[in-house]
Amino acid sequence: MRRVVGIEEWRRLAAEKRASGRRIGLVPTMGALHAGHESLVAAARANGDYVIMTIFVNPRQFNDPNDLRAYPRTPEADRPLAESFGVDALVEPTMAEMWPAYPDPTPTTVSVAGLGDVLEGAGRPGHFDGVASVVAKLAIVTGSSRAYFGEKDFQQLAVVRRMVLDLGLDVEVVGCPIVRDDDGLALSSRNVRLDASARARALSLSRALAAAADLGGPPSAMREAMAATMTAAQVVVGYAEVVDPATLRPLEDDATGPARALVAGVVDGVRLIDNREVEVRKGP
Ligand code: AMP
Repeated sequence: MRRVVGIEEWRRLAAEKRASGRRIGLVPTMGALHAGHESLVAAARANGDYVIMTIFVNPRQFNDPNDLRAYPRTPEADRPLAESFGVDALVEPTMAEMWPAYPDPTPTTVSVAGLGDVLEGAGRPGHFDGVASVVAKLAIVTGSSRAYFGEKDFQQLAVVRRMVLDLGLDVEVVGCPIVRDDDGLALSSRNVRLDASARARALSLSRALAAAADLGGPPSAMREAMAATMTAAQVVVGYAEVVDPATLRPLEDDATGPARALVAGVVDGVRLIDNREVEVRKGP
């Protein structure tokens, strides 16, 4: 596995691989790698891509400095893991190259209004500006590529797809299914911060989504069932929503068809999210 730090080397490497006929598969991460990240690499490899994984804990997408401080950073463990996943080049860019103004505010921002303002964006102001800005930079430096993102961050995927469309970036966005532990907990780098009791309560997120799927509508009853499941497990509910999967707008009770249920909750100070596809139908 090749290791790259500098932006110019990264840009050149991607250009060389394209010139030799390879398609680049870009897998952006914030490190603390797990099987969710591995699944993105596997998808890129299955497509025959030259896989460039980036690891960069992007401060611009953390609205809470404590969350940024507590975010797990495990570079020594990540490098052999990335290699074992089959990453071809691991890019660990420096802050000085990614955000030269940091810790002062970066003057240039990419912002996706609407999609970036609801759900996670409502509770974490500026989060998706940080996400869109960093993904735009990764995509521009990498150049023509496929970029792989997990449905675990469903709203992020929607924001990135919109940004790529609106800015005409030469990136094909590939969404990949959520990887879960056997007990249903969606894998997340943040899970390492959960002790046994917090982890047990965190399972209420996936249980809430299962309850919503079983109920099948109307959306208001699904929202109530999800919030009740999480509250009963002493999880502080951030949101429990049923939305149109394309617009992320909340569905009314007369809606029918495929929808997305999304939940966010705080367990022992750790913020977790999860989502799944559901079918909604009108109430009796
Ligand atoms: P992160 O390092 O948390 O920023 O995540 C990097 C990428 O991995 C994002 O596209 C995430 O959506 C994806 N990812 C994280 N957890 C999972 C998971 N459990 N299943 C699938 N993809 C995931």
